Amino acid sequence: MEKILVSACLLGENVKYNGSNNKLSHPLLEKWLKEGRIVSICPESEGGLPTPRHPSEIQGSKVVNTAGEDVTDAFISGAEIACKKALDNNIRFAILKQGSPSCGSSAVYDGSFSGTKIAGMGIAASMLSSMGVLVFDENDIDSLAKLVRQ
Ligand code: SF4
Repeated sequence: MEKILVSACLLGENVKYNGSNNKLSHPLLEKWLKEGRIVSICPESEGGLPTPRHPSEIQGSKVVNTAGEDVTDAFISGAEIACKKALDNNIRFAILKQGSPSCGSSAVYDGSFSGTKIAGMGIAASMLSSMGVLVFDENDIDSLAKLVRQ
């Protein structure tokens, strides 16, 4: 059965930087959960960052948080773990939270901590994409459903 990698915060896990989640209610997600298809991942937690944690944004080739710390290594480590999970589960598709510096697939914040979004990918989404995983966001589950093998 084809598995799908999903951002843990979309599954209701309290792994978001502020200790909350982005729980998504969607009938297809509920169905896939019941079928055992869903593989949860929070790249930032897997990379060793605590919850709650300072919010982070991508600044050029680095990721920094609002305390001015360089957290690039943790982001890369979490992205590598996400890729390993994908490989271990023969995963071709992911549903990742849009806008996150880890999980964003088409938009991220611009690094100024001003709430401004720009086109771009988060670190984990980018690494997954480069190994051939198609990354969808929480608003595009219906498009993914057409591609998932039953
Ligand atoms: Fe959600 Fe991804 Fe951020 Fe983890 S890293 S809280 S899964 S958006």
